[in-house]
Amino acid sequence: MAEAARSLTRGFFEGTIDTSILFPYPRISDDEDVRVSAFLAELTAYLEREVDRAWIDEHEQVPPQVIEELSRMGLFSISIPKEYGGMGLSQSAYCRVFEAVTAYDVGLGIILGVHLSIGIKGILLAGTEAQKRLYLPKAATGEWFASFALTEPGAGSDAQGIETRAVRGDDGHWVLNGDKIWIGNGSFSEIVVAFAQTPVVRKGETVDRVTAFILRPDMPGFTRGEPLRKMGARGSNQAELHFRDVRVPPENVLGEVGEGFKLAMRILNSGRQGLSAGAAGGVRNCLRMATEFAREREQFGRPIAEFELTQGKLAAMAADAFTAESVAYFTTGLADRGDVDYALESAAAKVWNSDALDRAVDELVQIAGGRGFVKGYPYERMYRDARITRIFEGTNEILRLFVGLSGMQGPGEYLRRIGQALRHPIKGLGLLREFAGDRVRMAVGGGEPEIAGDVQPALRRHYDYLAAHTRDLRAAVERVIRRYGKEVVERQFVVARVADMAIELYVRAATLSRTEALLDAHAAGAAQAPPLSSSRMALDDESVARILRLCDLACQRSGLRFRAARVALNDDRDDLLRSVAADVLG
Ligand SMILES: Cc1cc2nc3c(=O)[nH]c(=O)nc-3n(C[C@H](O)[C@H](O)[C@H](O)COP(=O)(O)OP(=O)(O)OC[C@H]3O[C@@H](n4cnc5c(N)ncnc54)[C@H](O)[C@@H]3O)c2cc1C
Repeated sequence: MAEAARSLTRGFFEGTIDTSILFPYPRISDDEDVRVSAFLAELTAYLEREVDRAWIDEHEQVPPQVIEELSRMGLFSISIPKEYGGMGLSQSAYCRVFEAVTAYDVGLGIILGVHLSIGIKGILLAGTEAQKRLYLPKAATGEWFASFALTEPGAGSDAQGIETRAVRGDDGHWVLNGDKIWIGNGSFSEIVVAFAQTPVVRKGETVDRVTAFILRPDMPGFTRGEPLRKMGARGSNQAELHFRDVRVPPENVLGEVGEGFKLAMRILNSGRQGLSAGAAGGVRNCLRMATEFAREREQFGRPIAEFELTQGKLAAMAADAFTAESVAYFTTGLADRGDVDYALESAAAKVWNSDALDRAVDELVQIAGGRGFVKGYPYERMYRDARITRIFEGTNEILRLFVGLSGMQGPGEYLRRIGQALRHPIKGLGLLREFAGDRVRMAVGGGEPEIAGDVQPALRRHYDYLAAHTRDLRAAVERVIRRYGKEVVERQFVVARVADMAIELYVRAATLSRTEALLDAHAAGAAQAPPLSSSRMALDDESVARILRLCDLACQRSGLRFRAARVALNDDRDDLLRSVAADVLG
């Protein structure tokens, strides 16, 4: 069996920190940086000159001429490889552009993200050469927009429970029936990657497994519903799609028959990276607007920025913005390097950044006071626009369960093997000796992972905490597995807390890695940060001192959240929660 790719976050669950993944913080090439910066300058100038966000919100659409102009500029081609007519940007560079578009208008960002992050992604990942040549050039020009069609009325979070079905006829064609809801770009997409149950033989039995198909709207039996009306992100478009005896030629199967669910999950990793970058831009936007407002608004004869309670909100938002950006581009860097697993990391980045965005828009509205709530100011729209991020491409609850349960698999399997070895001690002697060694190291406090070697001294204590907390997570995971065994699947409070501990470790590690790179660049005499993320920081002495303060605050806050999850894991008040919930539910 092929060895599973390494993952920084899975490592945390095992009590290790893989410094070969953690360092150096990823960056894009100078060449790509120049190209992206030039493109972004043209794009943002156009958006600010021609695109009215309030109009989009009110009319619930992006004007067609805006889409046409952005297509002409090449926006919808940026992540498509050059050989298929695209700009061929890396995932990191793509996410920078996505972040900028989303920071300008969330609805427009979603049109772009549905098209490139998830719409054509399946063709890039699993398409045949013929499929790539047929669809990608038209997707690149914006002539054909793409959709990713998974969700159904009865299957949202439980995506494996989709009921759309496709059956292969004698002539090799598939006949597809079913209904999809809330499909992005659904009113106008020309390429629809749709998922359906198909009969496959597994271990001699015929069972249903998901397969991906590329549908075209001119296929007889394919119809669309009205555009969806929403609370926010109103420029984006979603619609129902209906399939009645749609005949799909065999060459439109995407990837292997029966392997569609795995493909959908790989596609969503890319989507979640985009969302985390978009959310990072959103947090930064909130910080900028809250700061401007707080400086200008006077009460009690002074700007409200002079009050400590306002300052606390701005400082927390600044730390969150620094972390959100660090984790977003650390994660895209994992995708770009290609030799590590990043499924847990993409989920963690989406969860943390969307939660941070929620905190940021909430505090923005609070700082703006009544003006935060009334129309005519941008704040209430930003509040509404942000809300979807915790819901789509995997709700944050489902993603926490995914991170917690997947992360515990490795240690769970190890402990299971230890249990077996104890029953057959002679055969399992080597494993038992290894386990005993681990226990002794942990008991004497010498087992914690270390970040050794030549690191920035200013970050030393944060690395030491990261190492100690990694050891805490490993110990907590072991206790949880011993206590609950397989039943842990039903212990969602516990799994979510374990996930929160791991997510905090991951985002703190990403923040430290980026700060390390910034300090290294400063030590090497650079006046400006290398292209590590979307915002380019100056690196004079004062800027570096500010970066260090931001990193300190971000790490401190992460440590507090980590400890809160650890403490909650060890207290047994969940019975009370369960009892009250039972009272409520009757
Ligand atoms: C604006 C918008 C755009 C979208 N775009 C697309 C798209 O382009 N393509 C596409 O396929 N889909 C799309 N979706 C669908 C979206 O991905 C789903 O809404 C999302 O996955 C959640 O599914 P659901 O709404 O059915 O919620 P449910 O699955 O019904 O969940 C409801 C609540 O229950 C919780 N919950 C569910 N199961 C569990 C559990 N086991 N344990 C604990 N809590 C649980 C959830 O976290 C959530 O809080 C879009 C949705 C919206 C609103």
